[in-house]
Amino acid sequence: MEYISTRGAASPLNFEQVTLAGLAGDGGLYVPQSWPSFSPAEIADMAGLSYVETAVRVMLPFVGDALDETELRDICEQAYGRFSHAAVTPLVQLDGQQWLLELFHGPTLAFKDVALQLLGLLFEKFLARQDKHLTVVGATSGDTGSAAIDALAGRDKVDIFMLHPDGRISDVQRRQMTTVRAPNVHNIAIDGSFDDAQAMVKRMFADQEVTNRFSISAVNSINWARLMAQVVYYFYAASQLGAPHRKVAFSVPTGNFGDVFAGYVASKMGLPIEQLIVATNVNDILHRALSAGDYSTGTVTPTAAPSMDIQVSSNFERLLFDLEGRDGAKTAARMAAFEKSHNMQLEPAMREAASSIFTSHRVDPDDMSIAMRWAQDRAGHVIDPHSAIGLSAAQNVGLDPAVPVVTLATAHPAKFPDAVERATGIRPALPRRVGDLFDREENYTKLPGTYDAVKSFIMSNATPSDG
Ligand SMILES: *Cc1c(COP(=O)(O)O)cnc(C)c1O
Repeated sequence: MEYISTRGAASPLNFEQVTLAGLAGDGGLYVPQSWPSFSPAEIADMAGLSYVETAVRVMLPFVGDALDETELRDICEQAYGRFSHAAVTPLVQLDGQQWLLELFHGPTLAFKDVALQLLGLLFEKFLARQDKHLTVVGATSGDTGSAAIDALAGRDKVDIFMLHPDGRISDVQRRQMTTVRAPNVHNIAIDGSFDDAQAMVKRMFADQEVTNRFSISAVNSINWARLMAQVVYYFYAASQLGAPHRKVAFSVPTGNFGDVFAGYVASKMGLPIEQLIVATNVNDILHRALSAGDYSTGTVTPTAAPSMDIQVSSNFERLLFDLEGRDGAKTAARMAAFEKSHNMQLEPAMREAASSIFTSHRVDPDDMSIAMRWAQDRAGHVIDPHSAIGLSAAQNVGLDPAVPVVTLATAHPAKFPDAVERATGIRPALPRRVGDLFDREENYTKLPGTYDAVKSFIMSNATPSDG
């Protein structure tokens, strides 16, 4: 399997290269050259498989020669062996139509663990084959950072520099990053928003002074391997609900468009998905884009669901590339215009093509609280603010009542205890597996929100690629 850039100019890479690369040299994102697909019989065959076996079947077509089936299974067993639930991502029923797919049973309590536990092991495997030191640079609105740090702490031949917006993530999220003591982990709090941090990371990938000395890589959802790992649970959940004989809808609390794009990939691979509901909070650029063709940025409003508080959704470019007929030059021109004007209008034909699978819904804070209380009172489940936004969208988007809908429960409620308590009166307890999070010492560097400050910190603390 070869991977090509959405902007058409970077050279194609294989799976090992694309895993270590992150952003493409032309500023684009890597996607498979074509979508592998399963026949209905092959999907029917997935019924009853364990999470690990489902993962091996779904991911094998993407890894090409980089791993054989035994190596892939071994890595999946290690990655998913760290989850606290035997089903890895259990599916729970809320009522006759509504289901929750609990993706938060990993070490850092959010769905990011599903992909990052795997990615950490892939990095280790591939770096052992190469004579190279890797510097991971990332920006986080909270959950990616903690999951990436857990997955990479103490691993050989890799350093991680993680930027978070100072004061804009929850205490649990911050402590999960800043209390990890490993010499290869560097936490940076910047004075600015998540979008500011993400823009700095993007700029660093295009900065030759940095890239000539360091081999830099990404762990946010611009990394293809992360999206690949997330495709698995769409198959896993739909199989349990009767795929390929019955269509299923998914409602996905969305920020960077990575998780829901993985659902799109599953549908391209042949999984019969009725609809993918893109659930947003008041930071609704994706809702405006999908419902009215208006992809234009505003300012970020901080909310109780901080992992969705973003204005630019990096992975949307991957969808645009498909909607443009996979024309890299067209996508590059579109993105260049957007980066200048912060505004993009989708043509009616593109919108129509997107609407064959995507629908969107914007959930305000009241509806989020109502969904949290409904889950608590009617189904006996305490859910987190992000999952509540997904559930509220699932209940209010006007789906055919005969179609089961699976809301992706993206975080454990204890990761956002204040918001959960405000809505339901219940303060969820941290699961025992996270230990003495609030007693451990924190360690991080505060920097001004300027590119130069962050760059010089990284240049003086990172290990060169040949080091
Ligand atoms: C990252 C995250 C999201 C958004 O996922 P994207 O892939 O960025 O769209 C939603 N909920 C939680 C809890 C998250 O951590």
